[in-house]
Amino acid sequence: MTKWVYFFGAGKAEGDGTWRDLLGGKGAGLAEMTKIGLPVPAGFTISTDTCDYFYKNGKKYPAELKKQMTENVAKLEKVTQKKLGDPKNPLLVSVRSGSARSMPGMMETILNLGLNDKSVVGLATATGNERFAWDAYRRFVQMYSTVVMGMSKEDLEHRLRSMKDKLHIKEDTAVPASGWKGLVAEYKAYFKEQAGQDFPEDPMEQLWGAVGAVFGSWMAEKAVTYRRVEKITGLLGTGVNVQQMVFGNTGDNSGTGVCFTRDPSSGEKIFYGDYLTNAQGEDVVAGIRTPVHLTQLAKIMPKAYAQLENVRVQLEKHYRDMQDMEFTVEDGKLYMLQTRTGKRTPAATFKIAMDMTNEKLITKEEAILRIKPEDIERLFYPVIDAKVDKKSLESRIIAHGINAVPGAAVGKICLSAADAEEWAKNGEKVILVRRETSPEDVAGMAVAQGILTATGGKTSHAAVVARGWGKCCIVGADGVDIDYKAKTVKVAKVGKTLKEGDWLTLDGSEGIVYSGEMPLVTPELPKAYHVIMKWADGIRKLRVRTNADTPQDARKAIEFGAEGIGLCRTEHMFFTDFEQPEKSHDRQLGIQEMILADNREARVKALDKLLPFQRRDFVGIFTAMDGLPVTIRLVDPPLHEFVPHEHAKQVELAKELGISVETVERRVAQLHESNPMLGHRGCRLCITYPEILEMQVRAIIEAAIECHKGRVKVLPEIMIPLTLDKKELGILTDATRRVADALIKKAGIKLPYLVGTMIELPRAALLAGEIAEVAEFFSFGTNDLTQTTMGLSRDDAGRFLPDYVDEKKAGVFAGDPFQTLDQKGVGMLIRWGIEQGRKTNPKLKVGICGEHGGDSDSVKFCHEIGMDYVSASPFRVPISRLAAAQVVVEDKRKAKEGKKK
Ligand code: PEP
Ligand code: MG
Repeated sequence: MTKWVYFFGAGKAEGDGTWRDLLGGKGAGLAEMTKIGLPVPAGFTISTDTCDYFYKNGKKYPAELKKQMTENVAKLEKVTQKKLGDPKNPLLVSVRSGSARSMPGMMETILNLGLNDKSVVGLATATGNERFAWDAYRRFVQMYSTVVMGMSKEDLEHRLRSMKDKLHIKEDTAVPASGWKGLVAEYKAYFKEQAGQDFPEDPMEQLWGAVGAVFGSWMAEKAVTYRRVEKITGLLGTGVNVQQMVFGNTGDNSGTGVCFTRDPSSGEKIFYGDYLTNAQGEDVVAGIRTPVHLTQLAKIMPKAYAQLENVRVQLEKHYRDMQDMEFTVEDGKLYMLQTRTGKRTPAATFKIAMDMTNEKLITKEEAILRIKPEDIERLFYPVIDAKVDKKSLESRIIAHGINAVPGAAVGKICLSAADAEEWAKNGEKVILVRRETSPEDVAGMAVAQGILTATGGKTSHAAVVARGWGKCCIVGADGVDIDYKAKTVKVAKVGKTLKEGDWLTLDGSEGIVYSGEMPLVTPELPKAYHVIMKWADGIRKLRVRTNADTPQDARKAIEFGAEGIGLCRTEHMFFTDFEQPEKSHDRQLGIQEMILADNREARVKALDKLLPFQRRDFVGIFTAMDGLPVTIRLVDPPLHEFVPHEHAKQVELAKELGISVETVERRVAQLHESNPMLGHRGCRLCITYPEILEMQVRAIIEAAIECHKGRVKVLPEIMIPLTLDKKELGILTDATRRVADALIKKAGIKLPYLVGTMIELPRAALLAGEIAEVAEFFSFGTNDLTQTTMGLSRDDAGRFLPDYVDEKKAGVFAGDPFQTLDQKGVGMLIRWGIEQGRKTNPKLKVGICGEHGGDSDSVKFCHEIGMDYVSASPFRVPISRLAAAQVVVEDKRKAKEGKKK
C-alpha cells in the first residue's frame, strides 16, 4: 500500500529534514525539529506526491488517503489527548502548505480548524477565556469561507469593521466575546447565502475542505507565476501539514514571532526578528499591529527567550545555514512551528557563506555552491530604494515585459536615439523607448539610463547590446503602444498615455515599468564577494572571457575577472566612436559610403577611411587586455542595417556623400531581404566583398604590430562568422593569412595569431570535422545556432516563447532557449561539433560566445562537454566564473556518491 501520510509528534517522526522532496520544506523541517527534541506541536504531513497524484488524476485523491488520514487524526488525538470537535476540550489544527522549495505567501493556510458551535464552548471552558474562543472561531469561519470557498475577503472584512464601529471599538483585542459571537453568526449567514448550504460543522469535512484548498493553491495563478519567475521546476506539488494548534493569543503571557538566526539583510551574526504579544501568526503578517524587536522578548519573557536562543544555536548548527523560524509562546511555553533556510539579500548571501566557512560550519566548496547567479547579478545593479512604499510602487505599474538586463533605471521618456543623444548632452537622464532597436540606435542607447522596447526577446538587438553594457533593459513590454509621430507611449490596459519627456522608472530585474521618478540606490560590493570569487577561481577549470567591443568594456570586464575577449563584434565600431563620440559620424559615413558604392574601387576608397578608426579601436582593446587573448570577429550583420530607411535621412545622406537620393533609395531597395537573418550576412559578405575582410584584417594586424612595438603583448584571434562549409572558410582564412602574413613580414617581427570560425549553423556543427581542417579554433555562436537549430527567430520568438515556458500553458521548455542553452537539441550539435573538430585537430581551441556563455546552467554544460572557455558580457563574467567553479564541485560530489554506491 502506498504511504501518503507521515506523522510527527512526541519526539518521533516518520521522516526527517532530508525528506524535502516528499514532505515539502515545512513538513521536513517539522519532522527534523521533532526528532532533535525541539518543542514542536504534533501533526502529520500529507506528502507532495499526493498532490502530484491529485493533478494527474482529474483532481481525485488516492484511494488509500481517506483511511490514512483517519488513522493519523486518531494518532494525533492520542498524542495530544484531545479530540477534534470535542465539546469539552477540543483539538484544533492548522492546515498549511509546503513544497520542496520555499514559496513564501504563495499558497494557502487555514487555522483553528475543528471549531464548531459545540467545540467553541469547549475551548472557552478549557481556556477559561470565552472571548479568545469566539475570536478563534470567527477567524476560522473567515479563513474557511475565503480560502476554501473562495468568498470575498472584503465582504467579510466589511462585516468585521461594521461590528467594531457599532461597538465603538478600534482594536480587535478590545472586542468582547459577544462581539465575536455576533460576527460568527453574521459570517455563517453570509456563508449560507453564498454557498447555498450551512457552514460545515463536522471537523473531518472541514479538514477535507482545507486539504483540497491547499492542493488547489498549488496551481493558483500567483503560485505558478512565482515558480516561473524563480525558475522553480520539477517539483511534485505541495505537501499539506496538519498540526495541533497552539495559541499566541490567549493573553499577555502569549505571543507569536518570526526570527532569523542571522540578519537576513546584512548577514551579520545577530539574532534578528519580530515578536507580537497576544497574537496569532496571521496578525504579524497582516501588519495591522506593529511587532516589537526580538530583544524585547528577552525582557518580557526571559525564560522563553533563552529557550529560543538555544533553539537558534541548535538549528543553525544542525542545518549549517541561516534559518528562518516561526514560533509561538502559549502561556509562557515556547513552541516551534517552522524552520526553513532563510531568504536573504545578495550581500547577506555572500557574508553568511564566508562567515560560516570561517566558523568551520561549512567548507569553501559549500560556500561556492550557496551562491546563485541572481545573487551576483543583483550585487552590481542599482535597485529601487526599498524605502519606497510598496503600495504606491504598485499603483505606478504601467507594464510588464521581459527582464532582459537587471537593475533599475530612471529617466525621461525619449523615443528616438538621436534625441536621446541630444538630451543626454544637455545633462538630461533619458530612458530610450522604442518599438525595437537597431545598430543605428546604438549611440542613443549608450547614453540612455535604460532601454525599453515594445517587442523582442532576450537575444534581440536591444537585449544583447544593453547586456554588454550592464544597462537596465526591458524588452517585449506587453501592451505598450508607441506612437513616434504623436510622441506618446500608450498602455491601453491601464488606461494611461505618457508623453515624451515624462519620467519613467524601469525595474530590469523584474521586468516592470513604472511611471514616475523613483529613487534608486546602488549597493556597494561587499568584501565577502571578493573572498568567495577568489575561492571560485582557485577551483574552476574553464576559462572565462568576455564579449566586449570597446576598450571601456574591455577594462570593465577585466575588473570583473575576464581572462580575455571571446567576442569583439567589430560592426558596433562602425557606428559609434566610444573614445571620441563626436567623431562617430565620420565612421557612419565611411561605412555607408562603402555600402552604397557601385564597384570595388569605390568600396576600397570608402573602406580606407574606416581603416584608421578600426585600427585605433583595436589598439585600445589590445592595450586594455594587455597580453590576454582577444578574439575579433569580422563583419557579421546584413548591410541594410547600416543604411537609413527613413526618407529624410536618406536625403541627408545623399547630400553628404554628394550622390543622388535615387542612388541611395535604389541601393537600400536592393539590399532589402525578406529574411535577413538567413540572408546576405556573416562571412557571406566577405565572399562577395573580399575588400571588407582585407580592411578589417589589416586594421587588426597593424594594431597588433603597433602594440607589439610599444611592448604590449598581443594575442589576436581572427574569427570568421557564420561559416557553413570548409571550402568557404578555406577561401576566407587564406585571404586573412595573405594580408596578415604580408604585414607581419614587412614589420619584421614575430607575431603569432590564430584564424578560426564561429559555429552558428547546424551544417557547420555537423561538418565540424571537415571545418576543423582549416580552423584553428571554434567559437560556438549559440544565439544563431539556437535560432537556426530550432527554427525560432531570436528577434521575434519573445512574443510566443512565454507560452512555451509557462507550465499552465504549453510548458514545452523549462526555460527560454535563447537564455539557457537547449542542451538536448542545440547541445547535441555542440557536443558533436567538438568531438568531430577535435578528432581532426586535437589542439582545436573551443569556446562559446553566444549569450549562453553568461548563463550559469549553460556554462556548466560547456564545462561538461570539454570547452576551453566561455565568453560572457562583462557584467556576467562573475556569474560564469562562479558557475565554472560550481560545476567542478558538483562533479566531485557526484563522483563521490557514485563510489559510495
Ligand atoms: C551568436 O550568434 O551566438 C553570436 C555570438 O553572434 P551574434 O549574436 O552577433 O549574431
Ligand atoms: Mg551570430
